[in-house]
Amino acid sequence: MKAEIIAVGSELLLGQITNTNAAFISARLAEVGINVYYHTVVGDNPKRLEEAITIAQNRADVIIFSGGLGPTKDDLTKETIAKMLGEELESDHAALASIEAYFKRTGRTMTENNKKQALVLTGSKVLTNNYGMAPGMAIDKNGKCYILLPGPPHEMEPMFEKEAIPYLLGASGKREIIVSRVLKFYGIGEAELEYRVLSILEKQTNPTVAPLASPDSVILRLTAKAESVEAAQKLIAPVESEIRSLVGEFIYGIDEDTLSSKAAELLLGNKLTIAAAESLTAGLFMAELADEPGISSSLKGGVVVYDETAKMNQLDIPASLLDEFGVVSPECAAALAQNVKRKFGSDIGVGLTGAAGPDPHDGKPMGTVWIGIACREVVNTFKLSLSGSRNANRKRAARFALYYLIKEMKKRGTEN
Ligand code: ATP
Repeated sequence: MKAEIIAVGSELLLGQITNTNAAFISARLAEVGINVYYHTVVGDNPKRLEEAITIAQNRADVIIFSGGLGPTKDDLTKETIAKMLGEELESDHAALASIEAYFKRTGRTMTENNKKQALVLTGSKVLTNNYGMAPGMAIDKNGKCYILLPGPPHEMEPMFEKEAIPYLLGASGKREIIVSRVLKFYGIGEAELEYRVLSILEKQTNPTVAPLASPDSVILRLTAKAESVEAAQKLIAPVESEIRSLVGEFIYGIDEDTLSSKAAELLLGNKLTIAAAESLTAGLFMAELADEPGISSSLKGGVVVYDETAKMNQLDIPASLLDEFGVVSPECAAALAQNVKRKFGSDIGVGLTGAAGPDPHDGKPMGTVWIGIACREVVNTFKLSLSGSRNANRKRAARFALYYLIKEMKKRGTEN
């Protein structure tokens, strides 16, 4: 099966947004064994969209559209496809009811053009939009399969995953179930991760193993095809074990986990309380943790001790320690962690100190960071040598502190 992705939207051609939808769809299709041969981008212009569809019909079995399903006049995708396939547009009862419910819930007035979003191609399977108003569609006509998806990625991605992929696999005659498991890494770059699991990547078939990088973390997605969920999980398990034996130390979570959600889960699960003393991050670490619901039973509080006097006055860091070792030092990070833990009466104290940049600080080059984690009687320190901009370094320092916190808590769990 050969697929082509047509992304519709003039803002893509103007460079105002990047075509991340095509990248997402391509990556997922590769994982389920459907080849993508072309990406096309076309503006909100029916004539040029028709031309793009005609070209795609000559070279692809599956044509996937993203964007142009909205209520405004320039949203023309389904109208153009309806015309080319000789289909009508009809109002979908469920989609209209969900649009009406949305307007009622939010107290906004529904206008006539919003009804347009509930129009679907006759004979199509409607793909539910759980995060927006425009439904998607899938239709087979004259040996070709057409999938229409909304533009906003947070609407398109779950729809593609949960509805379009099963539809496509059904259409290809494959009666398989797809199960994915995402392993999340921190503290290792994409290139090093790939290098270390190369033997697995080279022999991958089922499950497939796909590395993906986001700005500061890396994931490996394992996708298995089988007749049942259990059979797919059985295929994934040994490959996951092999990956864990090679790079398990960098895995902080799975699937939907984030660094802060995992840290919160371990804190709450182990009934541990925490406090933080932040210098260069000035509250970023606490803010990440505070994003997590339920964290109030673990998060005691913290202090931003930006300059030396604040460190001495608020947290009793001795002047002699700062004179002897400097502010950006393991000794200072450890003292911050221990003293904030004592002051707040928490089980864990975290201290962050460093040179965010752009200039060196305390004689240490920009990007040098020390993190201290005091957990009950033990205090450990971790050094980072970051190479980003000032604010990237501050954010990464906060994330690394979460990562080391997770590792320390897991270590304690296995020691107990
Ligand atoms: P809406 O109901 O929001 O109008 P739509 O299906 O009509 O949805 P568009 O109007 O084409 O979609 O795009 C809406 C938004 O979705 C864009 O402003 C952009 O932020 C995002 N978007 C659209 N296409 C893409 C794409 N190919 N890649 C990434 N983001 C996209």
